Amino acid sequence: MEQDILEQIAVVTDRIAAACKKCGRNEKEVKLLLATKTVSAEKIKIALEAGYQLIGENKIQEVKEKYEPLRHCSHTGHFIGHLQTNKVKELLKYNIKCLESLDRLELAEKLQHRLEFEDKYLDVLIQVNTSGEQSKFGVSADRAIELVQQIATLKRLRIKGLMTIGLFSAEEQKIRTCFQLLQSLSRQIAALEIEDVQMQELSMGMSNDLEIAIEQGATIVRVGTAVFGKRIFPDSYYWNESSD
Ligand SMILES: *Cc1c(COP(=O)(O)O)cnc(C)c1O
Repeated sequence: MEQDILEQIAVVTDRIAAACKKCGRNEKEVKLLLATKTVSAEKIKIALEAGYQLIGENKIQEVKEKYEPLRHCSHTGHFIGHLQTNKVKELLKYNIKCLESLDRLELAEKLQHRLEFEDKYLDVLIQVNTSGEQSKFGVSADRAIELVQQIATLKRLRIKGLMTIGLFSAEEQKIRTCFQLLQSLSRQIAALEIEDVQMQELSMGMSNDLEIAIEQGATIVRVGTAVFGKRIFPDSYYWNESSD
């Protein structure tokens, strides 16, 4: 098992390096985030101990279950799933560094309130629905800039960039269009020079489309299947409104 995971990670890091080379980027600009939903703490540890320490979970329940077993392994935890407003308090218990899936003002306000109470700060990415699919979370592209401006006034939240899930499609151009849209929004927002808003991170690209995302400027690619193998639950279980 250990060998498998490390070998798969090596395959992925080679893909990242090749994609960077192809478009003239420095591979150090692209971070590999391991999407660890459904993966046991034992398996995650193998990656952490080998130095791959950026991980992301989709559900609070899993963050909670793996918190104790992973506590003493150095790592950085991001939350990449849909967060229900009533789970804000829970999220802040587990030392999550960045919420990548902030997609609505109501959630941001709840976070701000709770963070003030706990005297903490949280890094966030704004999740944009770049594919326009109903089933995906994220603010619509035409409302994204406005949402960033609103969230920028909530001083406990530190906006670090944008996140998206590309279209699931066999057509490369359609996937690329999603990532181009995110990159373009990021540039537009950066140009506004909004106080306390940084556009340093573009979290996009997964097992099947990370090369395209890197060509469009991804700084974080989120990879699950290509490292840990297929999951038993369909992604709809994680990505639809009923999921939580
Ligand atoms: C599961 C997941 C990923 C990783 O997807 P793979 O196709 O398994 O690489 C990336 N981002 C999010 C938000 C996810 O839920």
